Amino acid sequence: MKLGCVADDYTGATDLAGLLRRSGASVKLHFGLPKDRSNGDADIEIIALKCRTEPVDKAVNDCSEAARWLLAGGAERLYWKYCSTFDSTAQGNIGPIAEALMAITGQTQALYCPAFPENGRSVFMGHLFVGDQLLNESSMKDHPLTPMRDANLARVLAPQVKGDVGIWNRVAQKSGSESPDATHIIGDAVEFADLEFLIKNTPSNVLLTGGSALAMPLPSHMGFGSSEGQVDPKPGSRAIVLSGSCSQMTQQQVAHYIENNPSYQIHPETLDEKAIQDCVQWLESIGATETPLIFATASPDEVKAAQSKLGVAKAGALVEHAMASIAQAAHKMGVRRFVVAGGETSGAVTQALGVSQVMIGREICPGVPWVFSGSDECLIGLALKSGNFGAPTFFNDALQLLEG
Ligand code: ADP
Repeated sequence: MKLGCVADDYTGATDLAGLLRRSGASVKLHFGLPKDRSNGDADIEIIALKCRTEPVDKAVNDCSEAARWLLAGGAERLYWKYCSTFDSTAQGNIGPIAEALMAITGQTQALYCPAFPENGRSVFMGHLFVGDQLLNESSMKDHPLTPMRDANLARVLAPQVKGDVGIWNRVAQKSGSESPDATHIIGDAVEFADLEFLIKNTPSNVLLTGGSALAMPLPSHMGFGSSEGQVDPKPGSRAIVLSGSCSQMTQQQVAHYIENNPSYQIHPETLDEKAIQDCVQWLESIGATETPLIFATASPDEVKAAQSKLGVAKAGALVEHAMASIAQAAHKMGVRRFVVAGGETSGAVTQALGVSQVMIGREICPGVPWVFSGSDECLIGLALKSGNFGAPTFFNDALQLLEG
């Protein structure tokens, strides 16, 4: 292993994995802390945790354990990945985790750059922009868990850390000034070349932290990866699409897919074991050459109706439980390709299939790669798409990419 990454949520980790895979390096992604000792057989290993909004102590402990596991597996460098909108609270967890990782690696400074120019996230004069809006004027100001009310990242980070915070602004970068002497350095970047500049000009005593984009220049900077890329494995051809996301884009994707494929809708209000069995029976009746879609995807009004009858958590849990059971039944029928829409839904399906680590394949669309688990007969492929990712043709795009 050359590079070890710790990520604060699952879909963000998948996004990072897909971007790093573009370098041609082999990339392995672990969901949760790995149970076995590392054999460090991939160029890049990423540990996905769910620590964005955990209590600080727990988040620091989990990330420290992940970092030690990666270093024991031979990682030459660590990367701490968080959201490109710097999602955090006054207590953390971005800063405290950075300080914990610095203590483990012995690094004396940390660089922070959440910029992701391809997705409209840029940092200028230490201020984070989402498109042309300052972070605190974007929809992130109303986020239910991590409302971001200040775009000045130095001001956001300062209360989270013990050391001092400085800004390495783009004007200083361009004029050849060195990075500030502070322990924690916010790095400006508005285009990809700025991220390359930061990676090239940050010495190894500095812990690298950021969104997924800052990590992209790392493989070539560290001298690994290959322009030839890797050949993806090919799981058995039987496939299914499961959709539990109700995002606007997923609704379009479902509407597009059901025009030409067998589909079955499940409803949380009536989703008992009998209803799940009915769905599985329907699945058994579908020919092996067709790729059926099972969806709970519904309009905002339908979702609201289900939620007011059952409660938000129960409605979600019922759908996730059903999707997990259906995925297991499909696997028993010989399905080896799973296209799944929805972050939480993906978590439920992955868990039900007993998948704890995956190798990263080619990207279906930016941020969504095919991932593979197991080998030979047991090899399965998963396309895990959260919320608004992908084009309206995403389900077909995913299935076709494995044929290519
Ligand atoms: P996204 O990535 O779009 O946020 P998620 O799977 O993370 O998708 O979240 C969608 C949530 O909505 C899940 O908990 C899912 O079980 C729930 N859900 C799906 N369909 C319905 C529905 N018809 N009514 C209520 N909740 C639903």
